[in-house]
This record gives sequence, C-alpha cells and structure tokens, in this order.
Amino acid sequence: MRYTGYLGDGDSKSFRTVAEADPPVYKDVGIQKLECCGHVQKRMGKRLLDKINQCKGKVYQHGNKKVKGIGGAGKLTKAAVKRIQGHYGGAIRNNIGSLDKMKTAIWAIWHHRNGDHDKCSGFSWCDKSDKNKLPSFVMEEIKSVFEDLSADTLLGKWGTQNANESYHHLVWDRCPKAVFVGRDRLEIAVFDATIVYNEGESGRLDVFRKLGLSVGRFQKQGFRDLDLRRVKSAENQKKNSN
Ligand SMILES: [Zn+2]
Repeated sequence: MRYTGYLGDGDSKSFRTVAEADPPVYKDVGIQKLECCGHVQKRMGKRLLDKINQCKGKVYQHGNKKVKGIGGAGKLTKAAVKRIQGHYGGAIRNNIGSLDKMKTAIWAIWHHRNGDHDKCSGFSWCDKSDKNKLPSFVMEEIKSVFEDLSADTLLGKWGTQNANESYHHLVWDRCPKAVFVGRDRLEIAVFDATIVYNEGESGRLDVFRKLGLSVGRFQKQGFRDLDLRRVKSAENQKKNSN
C-alpha cells in the first residue's frame, strides 16, 4: 500500500517537501495534490455573491411590487449565503462515495429554500418552516449556480469511493478515530486492515496459523462468506454510481 495523494491545508511547502523529496518517496510514482472539499465549498459562496453582483441592476416582479436585485434583506442576505455554503459542504462531506446521494443532498438545499420540504426532511438543518424561504425570482436566478456546482465533473472525485477511503474504513472499523488508543492497538489495527484490504478476511488465517492457533472448517467457511459479501457489495456500489 502506498500513499500517493497529498491532501493539505494549502501549505505548499509541505507538499513540495514530499513531492520533490530526494531520494523520491516512491521510486516509480509521483505524489499528486488532492483538492480539499473545503475549497469547493467556498465556490458556492463565491458564486452566489457573484450572482448578487450580476443581478444588481435587474428589476423583478415580487408579488405586486417591483424590486431591484436579488441581494439584501428579505432576499438573499450574506448570512443566507454563508448558511447555504455550509450546507453545501456538508452535502459533499456526508456523502463521500455516492454521487447520487451527494447530488440529492445538494438539490435538497435549493428545494428547501424554495419552500419545498419533501426532499430535505431527513436533514438536521430543515425545520420545515418557511422562515428561510427565498422569493421565487431569487431561486430562479441562483438555480444555475446549483446546476454548475452539482455537476458530475466537479463532484466525481468524491462521488466515487476510492481505494484509499475504503482502506481507511477498515482501519477505523478496528480502531475508532474518535477514541485515543495506544501505539500497539493502532499498529495491530493497521496490520489487520492491510491484510484484509490486500487478501480479504481469509488472509488472516495465515496469522492464526503462525500464532499456533488451529484453523477449523467453520472459520475458513466464515471468512470465505465475508469475502464474498465484500466483493458483492463493492460490485453493487459500482453499479449504483454508474
Ligand atoms: Zn426543508
């Protein structure tokens, strides 16, 4: 197993340290810089603020009144932009591995602000009240921002479960990341996760044998069943994301 993706906080010095290390970290593979979703989250805020600026001079029919622009009180406030941006970031982070769920969660934000709570009822931020509802002329103007920022090309990177992500799951399954553990326990978790990641559950049989434990028929069968289940669920996940 090799770590070839670098995810940093924008400090290019530490990225360069690993990317241009001499001798190189890995002989035959370079280190790639990954984009952090916090960065993409900010795009939502920026695009909405740009939209407000673009629409400054435009006149809209609001009920029986005429109003100018989509920003400001009673319309899209700066605070609302911030909240939408935060929910958008959550929609990405909470659905890593499923492009469909990610998109559904992003559009739930739009529908919620449009006063339609069918799609957002499962989200903690939805109180089903219309106090955060925005006028429909505002919603129509910002729809294109949601279209652009829910595009497959933008989200694809996080929408598909990558091998690294599933390896990390195996480690955290054995050793929860929210609880402090000692080095021994962490090492055992990493070793065991690596065996299962590379060879499946059956790979652990060798460890048992070397520890002097005899391996029975049911244990072999049990591990084989778990491996088959893992392959099946990976195939299903692939089918669903296509
Ligand atoms: Zn809602």
